[in-house]
Amino acid sequence: MSDWKPIIGLEIHAELLTESKMFSACPVVDSVEAAPNTAVDPVSLGLPGTLPVINRQAVEFGLMVGLALHCEIPPVNQFARKNYFYPDLPKGYQISQYERPLAVNGWLDIEVTPESGEPYTKHIRIRRAHLEEDTGKLTHIGGGSSLVDYNRAGVPLLEIVTEPDINSAEEAEAFARTLRAILVYLGVNNGDMSKGVLRVEPNISVMHKDDTEFRTRTEVKNLNSIRNLYRATQVEIERQIKLWTSGEGVKQATLGWDEAKQRVVIQRVKERADEYRYFPEPDLPILEISREWVEEVRAKLPELPAAKRQRFMEVFGLSDYDARQLVAEQAIAHYYEAVVAAGANPKSAANWILGGLFTLMNEQSMEREAIEQTRINAGQFAELVKLVDGGTINKGTAQTVLAEMWDTGNDPARIVEARELAQVSDESAIREAVSRVLTENAKLVQDYLGGKDKLFGALVGQVMKAMGGKANAQVVTDILRRELEAMRA
Ligand code: ADP
Ligand code: MG
Repeated sequence: MSDWKPIIGLEIHAELLTESKMFSACPVVDSVEAAPNTAVDPVSLGLPGTLPVINRQAVEFGLMVGLALHCEIPPVNQFARKNYFYPDLPKGYQISQYERPLAVNGWLDIEVTPESGEPYTKHIRIRRAHLEEDTGKLTHIGGGSSLVDYNRAGVPLLEIVTEPDINSAEEAEAFARTLRAILVYLGVNNGDMSKGVLRVEPNISVMHKDDTEFRTRTEVKNLNSIRNLYRATQVEIERQIKLWTSGEGVKQATLGWDEAKQRVVIQRVKERADEYRYFPEPDLPILEISREWVEEVRAKLPELPAAKRQRFMEVFGLSDYDARQLVAEQAIAHYYEAVVAAGANPKSAANWILGGLFTLMNEQSMEREAIEQTRINAGQFAELVKLVDGGTINKGTAQTVLAEMWDTGNDPARIVEARELAQVSDESAIREAVSRVLTENAKLVQDYLGGKDKLFGALVGQVMKAMGGKANAQVVTDILRRELEAMRA
């Protein structure tokens, strides 16, 4: 295994969130939800006599991505025809960019957390990003028949291609997560791989330690989640190592992923390179990207995850780990910032989101980006944090209150009042409970005094129980310790 090194380059297709299609005013609709063939026009159907017009918003979205990925933006762009026949492509060619793409020579740094070993940062070069149009969608219904839906035909698509700098399934996953977050932060794509609006396809080969050149690669398509990207990449690496080791060798092929069986299936073996007969698109002008436009777009770029994480660490004093978790999903970062803006202590807010709230979300299998759909708004969450920090309730009670907020959407102060959950710091009440617990648990006390220090926690627990969970834990600890020391003397 260690004699082999995986070599991976990713091709990413991201549909751009424009209102209209890449080359016409035809509206873009949700291609999973909308009724088939309801968002089509003569241009996206490729009818004779129609002419394409470049969508300015799509170019601007593409520029945003190119700049976020530290690419150079060549001043001259050109569209080209990529010719092939397939029923989902009504024109018989896809308008794409070939020799003069929108963005080139970029990079993206990713943070990788391997299954074993320390996390590390890796620099991945971006070869290019270019604009093109999506194809329609075929549904094979059996009996040799297929249905075609052209709603998606002509939807603006940005294709991003990395250099083969990725060397493990973990790195492929980290790259996909990092890139997806950037696209979502930029507002150019919603990141939903299950609907195919973002598609990540790994090109995979393996290199023996004695090799001086790359070996044959395969490409895995139809991965509908980052989890599947990770699994398919891992499975394909292992498959290739086996094939080389057994002497059979790897054939260049396009593969699909069978999620149920957790294995790759060969869709098409490539005997030779695809011949698309590319030529410059005669119906579109050369696209000049002025330096002014580039700078205008650069100035408008929103704060991206890496910068936000840095700011959370510097301004809010968060740890690198906490900051990273908070910025990983834009929706979480927004929520966190709203909680802090509503007056919560930034560190406590981070702890309660990453701890309490994430636990509840996990229990309900709720995706992180759905945070806005919980019943707890940022203002209420901030109130909860303030109740704990201000000593009105203790941490254990806060968990109870949070769970009730989650279920009912009620304000934390109301819950505390209605259920009489306010923390008791009154020393005399706590002292009473302590002495009761000490008499009722003579054996525990004896064992503790006999050297079993760990039993202190059990005694604290008994006192908390006697106080209905509402006692100030610090005061309990102090009094209990004092009383026990007095008994020792
Ligand atoms: P093509 O032009 O045929 O599409 P490219 O050379 O442009 O192929 O590469 C497409 C993708 O495959 C890129 O992401 C690239 O990094 C990756 N790639 C190229 N060679 C290999 C290889 N031997 N193993 C894995 N990935 C590769
Ligand atoms: Mg392409």
